[in-house]
Amino acid sequence: MTQINKPLKDQAVLYPGDKTDFADHYPGLFNGKHRWFDTLANFLFPARCLLCHDILPLATGSSLCSSCQEHYRAGGQICPQCEGFFRGTAPCSCLPEGSPLQALFTISLYDQNWRRLIHDLKYRNRRAAARPLGIWLAREIINQGYCTPDLVVPVPLHRLRKKERGYNQSALLAHSSALALNIPCDNLLVKDKPTRSQTAVSRCERHANIRGVFKCAAPPPPGTRVLLIDDVYSTGNTMKEAATVLSSRGARVFGAVIAYNPHIKSLQRSGFYAGLDQW
Ligand SMILES: [Zn+2]
Ligand SMILES: [Zn+2]
Repeated sequence: MTQINKPLKDQAVLYPGDKTDFADHYPGLFNGKHRWFDTLANFLFPARCLLCHDILPLATGSSLCSSCQEHYRAGGQICPQCEGFFRGTAPCSCLPEGSPLQALFTISLYDQNWRRLIHDLKYRNRRAAARPLGIWLAREIINQGYCTPDLVVPVPLHRLRKKERGYNQSALLAHSSALALNIPCDNLLVKDKPTRSQTAVSRCERHANIRGVFKCAAPPPPGTRVLLIDDVYSTGNTMKEAATVLSSRGARVFGAVIAYNPHIKSLQRSGFYAGLDQW
């Protein structure tokens, strides 16, 4: 387990930007002796808004421009039962007692800005984006008020997919959220069977495609409140299957994703859209 020591409330900035990550990689250039380099770096590589890519004002302390802050700051929840998106401080009233997934949090509904950002995170090696997104996700959990997880667990990739990509984007998000929440992060789940993309199979095959692919490598103590993290919630089958495995081993599971695309369901039903899960 990775124990983290820095609580969210003590962090100086709400949405640390990519410039901060650059400074992390080259600390010697930002240690006070080379402030001229900081100024030059700002000029040559101005910090840009995480979502819309507009240039950010100097010393803004945020990864979002003011317009995106206004537009995207209010996150919400997805009901795992009726799959409605809502804002509130309790689970949806239709959720049955004992549901494997007791609540599901999201930063935002999915749109073109999120599509580009998630595509960059997953397929263009923009790993640095996971840090502000994980912190943002943690803030949503805290803001909801009723979920106080003990442990963060990422939805795993199959080892061959991870080898091909070089990293698991959900694990990067999970680690960043755990850091912000000041709780451990552990890879309790493994995916021991490769699967086809969920969008490459028919709607009725989709659950069968993912069923039984996850195993719990090390069961948590009974009653552990697990925050299960994935990047996008679209059909919901992956998140629900992973939650079912953890819950069958005694955990109370809450989910969190960075974006929710409810429209994919109707688009997939029509056969119009293929590829979301493959980006
Ligand atoms: Zn913006
Ligand atoms: Zn509901």
